[in-house]
Amino acid sequence: MTSAESLTPAEREVADLCVELIRVDSSNYGDGSGPGERAAAEVVMARLAEVGIEATYVESEPGRGNVVTRVEGTDPSLPALLVHGHLDVVPANAADWSVDPFAGEVRDGYIWGRGAVDMKDMDAMMLAVLRQLKREGRRPRRDLVFAWVADEEAGGVYGAKHLTAHHPELFEGVTEAISEVGGYSLEVDPSLRLYLIETAQKGLAWMKLIADGTAGHGSMLNGDNAVTEVARAVARIGEHDWPLTYTPTVRTFLTEVADAFGIPFDEDDPQPVLDRIGPLVRFVGATLRHTTNPTQLTAGYKSNVIPGQASAVIDGRFLPGFEEDFFKTIDSLLGPKVRREFIHHDIALETSFDGALVESMIAALKAEDPTARAIPYCMSGGTDNKTFFADLEVRGFGFVPLRLPAGMDFAAMFHGVDERVPVEALQFGVRVLDRLLLNY
Ligand SMILES: [Zn+2]
Repeated sequence: MTSAESLTPAEREVADLCVELIRVDSSNYGDGSGPGERAAAEVVMARLAEVGIEATYVESEPGRGNVVTRVEGTDPSLPALLVHGHLDVVPANAADWSVDPFAGEVRDGYIWGRGAVDMKDMDAMMLAVLRQLKREGRRPRRDLVFAWVADEEAGGVYGAKHLTAHHPELFEGVTEAISEVGGYSLEVDPSLRLYLIETAQKGLAWMKLIADGTAGHGSMLNGDNAVTEVARAVARIGEHDWPLTYTPTVRTFLTEVADAFGIPFDEDDPQPVLDRIGPLVRFVGATLRHTTNPTQLTAGYKSNVIPGQASAVIDGRFLPGFEEDFFKTIDSLLGPKVRREFIHHDIALETSFDGALVESMIAALKAEDPTARAIPYCMSGGTDNKTFFADLEVRGFGFVPLRLPAGMDFAAMFHGVDERVPVEALQFGVRVLDRLLLNY
């Protein structure tokens, strides 16, 4: 392994920066009761100031801190690249953990703690690479905009959404972005590692189903029962067998995985291919079809009173390019007496796996790992890339380069107990990012 002396400055400090950020509890409970991101943003600001980098601090609400800075490139004709990471984390119940989730303990070559992979790892990698660029006086070709943002874990209202709405000038000229969840490795064998780059995300539709019926006494005849109607609709939607539907990204992903493992990909039976990716199936298993999971039911207040209204909530996730098909089916399943309203509705994303940025990501990975083969994939969840795309038409990728040990259950780390990241993966990540950001 690399000796300490041969490490670059970014490789040497990235673990410490990650630990420092993990030690700042920035739990986001989604109801404004958390500590906010100000303290984490102050760490970022201080580490930038230390090497003479000025940054803009934006507080969307008291305590909700965001940091944005721009590095000027040598070629002003090139569009700018945005590199963004969120500073908030989901809460952690310390009693479930083997370590204090906010101590930033380094043990057995791993940094342990809430945010170690989601996503103070990348926040630290961004800092380490930027500090190195500045110290060494190197300049990228294009402008790079670095943003450390609040509130991703609760929809980005106080982070990405606030920034794009109120400070769009900070992102002037930005056409592409990289951020979480992608760029990590899946070892096929010692001569081949797949790196999964996220190019697509499912859309989200949280829907409230409402049935209006005739209220009345529970002892009498009633042919217009709201509870029965909503229950039927919930059962129809919850049991609906959504057909396999391949977006271009998912088809490419499965074809590439099958090829890497030397097995056929049968579109009617993708399971053998999915079996090969192990626990990563958590990220992609739900990207082969729409999903609709009933999550809440509300009706009535007394055993012998038929309520006039009953409602339910469905967590729906639709595939990019198939939104119309999704809602047409939903509406056919609702039935005539049930209507739907959105609690939350966002977009699905899909971009092609080509172009100069993709080429540069591939080249940077291969330079640091000759066994690397990059493939695109679709995520069943969403990230801040949705906001930057919807508001500023920025084409986003999930690219946090991490070379992971074979067999590590990476997907379980996200929002998981004992979240941790290998120190060597971070060192790999800063080498890849340094190459990418400087050369692209
Ligand atoms: Zn995240």
